[in-house]
Amino acid sequence: MKKLALHWKILLGMVVGVLFALLLTNFDWGSNFIGDWVKPFGTIFISSLKLIAIPLILAALIKGISDLKDISSLSKMGMRTISIYVITTVIAVSIGLTVVSLVQPGKTINEDTRNELVEAYGGDADAKLQAAAAQKDAGPLQALIDLVPSNIVSAASSNRNMLQVIFFAVFFGISLILIPEEKAKTVKDFFDGLNEVILKMVDLIMLAAPYGVFALMAALVVEAPSADLFAALGMYAVSVVFGLLLMVVFYIVLVKVFTKKSPKFFLNGIAPAQLLAFSTSSSAATLPVTMERVTEHLGVEEEVSSFVLPIGATINMDGTSLYQAVAAVFIAQAFGMDLSFGTQLGIIATATLASIGSAAVPGAGMVMLVGVLGYAGIPEAGLALIFAVDRPLDMCRTVINVTGDATVSMLVAKSQGKLGDPKVKNWDDTYAK
Ligand code: ASP
Repeated sequence: MKKLALHWKILLGMVVGVLFALLLTNFDWGSNFIGDWVKPFGTIFISSLKLIAIPLILAALIKGISDLKDISSLSKMGMRTISIYVITTVIAVSIGLTVVSLVQPGKTINEDTRNELVEAYGGDADAKLQAAAAQKDAGPLQALIDLVPSNIVSAASSNRNMLQVIFFAVFFGISLILIPEEKAKTVKDFFDGLNEVILKMVDLIMLAAPYGVFALMAALVVEAPSADLFAALGMYAVSVVFGLLLMVVFYIVLVKVFTKKSPKFFLNGIAPAQLLAFSTSSSAATLPVTMERVTEHLGVEEEVSSFVLPIGATINMDGTSLYQAVAAVFIAQAFGMDLSFGTQLGIIATATLASIGSAAVPGAGMVMLVGVLGYAGIPEAGLALIFAVDRPLDMCRTVINVTGDATVSMLVAKSQGKLGDPKVKNWDDTYAK
């Protein structure tokens, strides 16, 4: 086991977790056993990752920004980052729309299946609708208001407020650049050290990753809905996954063209973060590992990764936006609606905004989908149609969200002259120490 690269160990943990759960479901006590004795270890694993997300953002961003030395390079990097994020998201939605228009998965759902699904999942979908309604009441500038915390301690007390913590860290980092160097030194050294400590915590947590994902996958298998429903929604799921795979190809091409790095280099470097994204369905929980992989294995200098990645984890969700486009059109097709070209263009805009607004946690993309449906006049009851397969698709789209962030960080680093050789040549050195 020791010689195996980390991503293989994690993959093995996932596969063994699935097999173990399938085996145990043959016994009456199997599901309960997994719920009581296996799932908790998965929960502990995710919690330990989330535990370091906020301190990591604080330490890494403050250190990263203060390393920049002047404000103009920060604003240049900021503009570049946000522009590339928006462009990749718009491309993702467009790919989603193209795939769903060609495959037309909604046409495979007959009226009986549709009614069955609405009946079976109507209740679950209601919870998502309520969450969406709470967001709908907000005014047009609510997102801006939400960006600025009124109290940093309470902002940092919830992982959902990551943008507020990012705002504080950027503000703090800028102010640190602006004060005399001898005064800034102690504070800067402190955050440098803190950053190192937290990255070490990531390394230590990753030692447990294969076992953590084992528990997570086993718990998912026993909680999964019946196979019949998967079959009914098969073409829809295939459309989402196919679109997501096209995104991977797109990222690989971007990396190759702009940074000249090979697909193998890129995928080997980012694979552990992708596998964690898949097992946890949360870009926020994966963030510490994404940061570590991008910095140590893909050669992105910390100044760039510590700025681009936390922002990306919260606002850049290419997988989510692609899924929202496919889901919206699928529901429209299932209800026999035809969407005009203008409505489809509107879906590009709303899905882009909805993905920016989605929190980096499991299931968030589905809540924000309600806004896209509302805009296009598609029945919200349609959420019930896609509920059964949402979790597996959430796992897949989270992988793309994380891969997109890593790709953009490489592009931004390259454009700033901050893409070097990876610090870790042998993939597993970090964890073996
Ligand atoms: N789970 C996704 C993420 O954390 C968000 C979503 O699409 O639900 O990136």
